[in-house]
Amino acid sequence: MPGIRPLLLLAGLIGGGSYLLGISSPAVPSRPTGRPPSSVCDDHAVCVAEIAVHAGASRVVLDEQDSVETVLAITSQERPRHQSQLTLWLDDSGDGPRTSLIWQAVRNAAAVPDPPALRVDSPSFAFVDDTAPSTVRESWLLPSSACPAERSVAIQTTEILTTTRVRIVVDQHVANDGLLLERCRQLAVRVGTVLMPPVEATFGPVADRSDNGTLTVVVTPQVRQMVGGNKPVEAFVLASDFRSDLTRPASNECDVIYIHPELLRKPSDAVLVHELVHAAQFCAFRRHYGSSPWPLADWMLEGSAHAAEVLLTGSDDNVRDRLQAFAACPEKSPLIVMDTTREGLWREPRSRGATCSFFSWMGRQYGLRAMGQIVASGANDRWRPATGKTVAELVRSWQSALITHNVVRRHELTTQGPLRLTIQGGATAFVRLPASADGHRIAVRIQSQNESEWTGYIHRSRRMRSQPIMAASATASLRQ
Ligand SMILES: [Zn+2]
Repeated sequence: MPGIRPLLLLAGLIGGGSYLLGISSPAVPSRPTGRPPSSVCDDHAVCVAEIAVHAGASRVVLDEQDSVETVLAITSQERPRHQSQLTLWLDDSGDGPRTSLIWQAVRNAAAVPDPPALRVDSPSFAFVDDTAPSTVRESWLLPSSACPAERSVAIQTTEILTTTRVRIVVDQHVANDGLLLERCRQLAVRVGTVLMPPVEATFGPVADRSDNGTLTVVVTPQVRQMVGGNKPVEAFVLASDFRSDLTRPASNECDVIYIHPELLRKPSDAVLVHELVHAAQFCAFRRHYGSSPWPLADWMLEGSAHAAEVLLTGSDDNVRDRLQAFAACPEKSPLIVMDTTREGLWREPRSRGATCSFFSWMGRQYGLRAMGQIVASGANDRWRPATGKTVAELVRSWQSALITHNVVRRHELTTQGPLRLTIQGGATAFVRLPASADGHRIAVRIQSQNESEWTGYIHRSRRMRSQPIMAASATASLRQ
């Protein structure tokens, strides 16, 4: 899918290192909004409290754990390549140092709402040229792998059809088995009338750099030459194509989506929505930033595209394996990764699963349009206008929802001995604490073994029925 790296990389270089614009520091938890903080946790609610950390170490003392589940969430604040080594053990050695925990209730931690209704205008769609494959020849330059533009491969295509929203051109190496025109017609209708309208209602219009009134879809087997990740690339979008200040060979100077011929034979709404989202994202950046650096952030671009494909199609088929990979090993699943290629995480399934999970949660809580506004904005605090919260507050609320609904694997801290954790930079480990006898407190010590920076918080809740928070449910946002 969503392979896109070369162009994102290209745009990032053109942008003069613009990747760091618009995003604050990694998710440093801050106090959530809502009810005022308290020195006790109401055990009928979900509460969180920050852990005070001094020189990589902390000692946490908890009272009265009856009938609640208590989970530590520990996030490495290091770069994604870093492996933080932490040791946790139960400490019953006496009073020792302790800091007061300030509990804050988490509102709606158990809620799994449908996303707010998305208003979609009726599309205008018609065939412009529907006679037969023309003899119009076009050449396109495609990256042969995640490599610089100068190593692009030229392909020759034939224009098959044009509509008011979509134009389809096909690589001359794609055999015409007699069904090619009909498949292109079906794809154009599906994209132009069903898939594009809700994407544009969420992320803004797919404008037109090429000035021919349509989004171009290039069908070519060359798509599979894009490498990376655990499954073959089916389609991609190049940000460089959307920049008005670039010319060949750095750009094809056109709003375009590249798809593999297999996607023409077996169309996937999820994959097509994902790529349409990228097209709309880059159009938004072109409108807002023009030839200035674009504040691209990979985790936001990919997470919101995956979330849109889940929430708009009602299916998580395309990302289920990634969501499962994240849930099985959250401590190896960095969330906020600005440049996935630089960090060696391009199309890495666990990290993709984490950001898909986060944006799916956010889209349900605040709406798809809010998600689109946040991704397109380059403001330093792009999150608060749409949600009323900082990104750190949102991340913690999402993590509390993951705990409440038993989505992520937890480690167990027991009396049998210390627990040793390895946490990848930017990822979060979840540790369940043992229940204590009535009225008895427990104390937990946490010590970094390699001077890693980490933050943590304690989540307390009543046990709730397991519910797959990120499972898809049809939202009827797509008109069939
Ligand atoms: Zn993508």
